Amino acid sequence: MDYLSKKYLRPRKIPSSACSGCGLGMNHKAVIQAVYELGLEVDDIVWGTSIGCAGRQTFGTWKGDGFAGTHGRVYAIARGLRLALPPEKKIILTVGDGDAFGIGLLHLIHAARSNADLTIIVNDNLGYMSTGGQYGWTTPHGTKSDSSPYGMYEHNMVSDGMDVLGVLKNAGATFLARHVSMDGPRAVESIKKGIANRGLSLIHIVYPCPTNVGSRELGTRDAVTIYNWIKNQAAPIGQERSDTLWATGVYHDASNSRPEFSESIHQHVGRIRRQRLYENKI
Ligand code: SF4
Repeated sequence: MDYLSKKYLRPRKIPSSACSGCGLGMNHKAVIQAVYELGLEVDDIVWGTSIGCAGRQTFGTWKGDGFAGTHGRVYAIARGLRLALPPEKKIILTVGDGDAFGIGLLHLIHAARSNADLTIIVNDNLGYMSTGGQYGWTTPHGTKSDSSPYGMYEHNMVSDGMDVLGVLKNAGATFLARHVSMDGPRAVESIKKGIANRGLSLIHIVYPCPTNVGSRELGTRDAVTIYNWIKNQAAPIGQERSDTLWATGVYHDASNSRPEFSESIHQHVGRIRRQRLYENKI
């Protein structure tokens, strides 16, 4: 167990129950590294999740306070918590692509609209992998899965001209980035910016699932094969090629440019209270 694991994670949950070769550990490590580099302690953060591989292997290891919502509903719960907690307490959510971009999308849009101070890490394994490997909202076109044995035939929400990050930007999110697990320090820097933003931040990180994506699409559970498959289809923003699926880096940074959700509500309620007090005096 390394220094960061000892400092932030529960020893009895390490190693996590992720399959051998799963890329989730790299994403989790990037978040923990960002937390450490920002000088945050265990008590400074409340960690939440919903359901599936992405949450189970990350949130479940966190040593501090945490909570789990039902599928797609964690954003609504987190907004409530945001109102109850002091502003300096950070709320980090680790969720999956199905949770954030599928069943939870409307809740996520509301969280973006209100610019709630949450940092959301979307760990994207390109489909529904904890249920056995069905295609989802971000499965690349042509990719084989249990429910698309002849190749994914629907458009996805990242690379087919309808980027979900664009939807969230238009809804009011103030920090958005995209990475793959192999981005290392670049991903850590984006996560740090996301945590530092007093508003809605989302960092989308594509990671390798050797068990389902590897075996169905590539015919092997060999970790190196799927790591290369993802890495070779990613490129930094501005250096994309014709076959790039994931342009990586900061997509939108309007940090601290809009009023934050809980701050706005507390100010609004304060104004109403003062008004009522004034009216009662008259
Ligand atoms: S099913 Fe895939 S995403 Fe889930 S833990 Fe296993 S390798 Fe990771």
